[in-house]
Amino acid sequence: MPVGTQGTVKAMSQEELADIGFGIILGNTYHLYLRPGHELIDSIGGLHKFINWNGNILTDSGGFQVFSLEHIRKIGEDGVLFRSYVDGSYHKFTPERVMEIQKAIGADIVMAFDECAPYPCEKDYAAAAMNRTHEWAKRSLESRDPNQAFFGIIQGSVYPELRVESAKFIASLDTDGIAIGGVSVGEGKELMMKSVEWCVPHLPENKPRYLMGVGTPEDLLDSVVRGIDMFDCVLPSRLGRNGSLYTTYGRINIKNNRFINDFSPVDPECNCWACKNYSAAYLRHLYKCDEILASRLATYHNLHFYGNLMERIREAIEQGRLTEFRKEFLAKYRKHRASVHDEIARQEISNGDSRNKHSHVGQCPPRSES
Ligand SMILES: [Zn+2]
Repeated sequence: MPVGTQGTVKAMSQEELADIGFGIILGNTYHLYLRPGHELIDSIGGLHKFINWNGNILTDSGGFQVFSLEHIRKIGEDGVLFRSYVDGSYHKFTPERVMEIQKAIGADIVMAFDECAPYPCEKDYAAAAMNRTHEWAKRSLESRDPNQAFFGIIQGSVYPELRVESAKFIASLDTDGIAIGGVSVGEGKELMMKSVEWCVPHLPENKPRYLMGVGTPEDLLDSVVRGIDMFDCVLPSRLGRNGSLYTTYGRINIKNNRFINDFSPVDPECNCWACKNYSAAYLRHLYKCDEILASRLATYHNLHFYGNLMERIREAIEQGRLTEFRKEFLAKYRKHRASVHDEIARQEISNGDSRNKHSHVGQCPPRSES
């Protein structure tokens, strides 16, 4: 799912997203509630109509944002009091309120209100946040609109016992899907994959599993082989705007001098609109001149790369050759670049938001484009 925090995937039109082949995008309850307001969205018939998107929309519950952004906030058992980053006004999110807002937005899939514990996090706090998340999941479920699909969120930080307990609890609820939250918050790849491994054995086979805020192409593959179905991540769009492009042979920095005279496409094996029509040298030139088209072409290409990767993963699963596909893909992808680049990319998700730059170490990054 491309991330469209403010009702837009940055630099892309909805027609372009459909053209790439995406059937679902992510919106953000917290941001849309503050601007333009869920009532306004409701008054014209919901977010689909407002942004002219015929595909599906999943809205994040806003829990991640109210807990991760550097705002004055007060956490109680009932909900969270926070200040708007737009105008400083005070607001309160409770599970019921968040469900009401997501109903007004009219998403196809809504998420339970949860507390994402920061990383690093003491076990006592992680347990308290998990217990609150469980209570809130029950209350979210009770107040959800049955016409919207509902996903619960597993928490538990990096503690195996908590992850297992949370997975079992969320799996026991009557949800349409299950998300693993509280990952990709600075814990690093190894612990992120462990969190997945602790949770997955306790999840039902018949419900989609969504790993929130992940990740690099390698993360996607590594998670799918562990049993994950759905992802959202700002990386392809955010890195695209910064001149970092995903290719069959690894991630490149288009601003590099080696592309000055490279009139071939950014990725010779890509058949996207950008690669079919424009050269690496032209894209580099656009970046050097700070032209808007640079962001558009790079975002289009990167999203296409991600969409195409997931499509090929689905094909490989159908053909019973996922392991072989993963090997083939990674052999090429890692050919020219060490995988350390993707570890850096993952850190960029954790640290990349300018609004979050004053936050202390260990706070969650916004799972949104901002
Ligand atoms: Zn391309």
